[in-house]
Amino acid sequence: MALTGIGIFKLLPKTNCKECGDPTCLAFAMKLAAGRVELSACPYVSEEATAKLSEAAAPPIRPVNIGVGDRALKVGGETVMFRHEKRFENPPGFALLIGDTMPESEVDARLERFKQIEYERVGLTLRPELIAVKDESGDASKFEALASKVKQNSDCCIILMSNNPDILAAGMKACADRKPLIYAATKDNLDSVANLAKEHSCPVAVKADGLEELSQLTTKLTEAGINDIVLDSGARSVRQAFEDQVIIRSAALNKKFRPLGFPTIVLPCEMTTDTMKEAVIASMFVAKYGGIIVLSDFQGESLFPLLVERLNIYTDPQRPLATTEGIYEIGNPDENSPVLITSNFSLTYFIVSGEIETSKVPTYLLVKDTEGLSVMTGWAAGKFVADAIAPFVKKCGITDKVKNHKLTIPGHAAAESGGLEEELPNWKIEVGPREGSRIPAYLKAWKP
Ligand code: SF4
Repeated sequence: MALTGIGIFKLLPKTNCKECGDPTCLAFAMKLAAGRVELSACPYVSEEATAKLSEAAAPPIRPVNIGVGDRALKVGGETVMFRHEKRFENPPGFALLIGDTMPESEVDARLERFKQIEYERVGLTLRPELIAVKDESGDASKFEALASKVKQNSDCCIILMSNNPDILAAGMKACADRKPLIYAATKDNLDSVANLAKEHSCPVAVKADGLEELSQLTTKLTEAGINDIVLDSGARSVRQAFEDQVIIRSAALNKKFRPLGFPTIVLPCEMTTDTMKEAVIASMFVAKYGGIIVLSDFQGESLFPLLVERLNIYTDPQRPLATTEGIYEIGNPDENSPVLITSNFSLTYFIVSGEIETSKVPTYLLVKDTEGLSVMTGWAAGKFVADAIAPFVKKCGITDKVKNHKLTIPGHAAAESGGLEEELPNWKIEVGPREGSRIPAYLKAWKP
């Protein structure tokens, strides 16, 4: 049975040395009990305690990585049933299906569409992550050729889909170095697919006929030393698939039932032939509790709402959406261009950068990390005040980019800039407009 926070605390060194990143051993123990940290973060746990804590230390839903490099996808690692309890951790990946019987022109069109679909929203880039290469022909060489083409034409994560281990092995020849998800191990091919996953150290999806069989198969895989597992309960009716998702999540979190403690894959593409219905089904699984969502095709009008829904559900409800701190160059600014500063609340960044673009005046926009707070709230919290702004301006590198050291602060933050002239003696501080809509006129009239 899983240990409580106090139970874990009794086994920790109790030195409060803070090396784990938490102020006390008790705080660390509480996080460990909630599955929010790894036991390995504390370097001083004895071997005996490690053995006792291994059960408590394992996350209730194992995080699984698919792919390599910057575009690798992490799914699972969830610790709550409902977003408002804390937050959802790892957004589900959207996969585009490409079959090996599709005409070459259709395959090319889908690969091109996959590349093109990308949206900027509140300073963030939204895009899908995976291509599911599906064996429809039963021909290993065709499957291998398609896997190879997908690998060469995209840096996305790959799912290899077949029930035939020989065909999956052919696909692996083409793209094993991209660490694809192997879909799927079933009761009929478990050993062969498990060997393939082990040989290439790749994650594997398990497909079963119901949750009981699913639990038996995952138990066999973990006994064979395979732990990077993704679950497919096999349900293809919307109602059953939804029910299974909820039961899997609840069994893993509330009952600590290890055989179901893995992320899931859902296939709306196999639940309907109506593309709009498919998008609606997918939207349900974004909220509850798909880890990977496979769609029959991507079209902007259906995928964009899904990407936005995912963004909204997987933001931390206790932390506003934030843009990365730094210098944003808008319209190729040079050494004589204006320098504006604002907070990193995403909406603020979105409005200010949009108005600068509208002005067509090349500008440097400095975005100060205020932990996602707006200018006024950031000021009230002491995060957008002279003491905080000045060190950022000095260190961010803007001094080397412009000749005229003139910094424009938001008009409604004029009072907050008190002391900024003293903190930045080499800069002239100018008060900009109060409203974003006045930024274009301000920039057009701006003089170095
Ligand atoms: Fe305690 Fe270990 Fe964290 Fe140090 S690193 S505070 S000993 S849990």
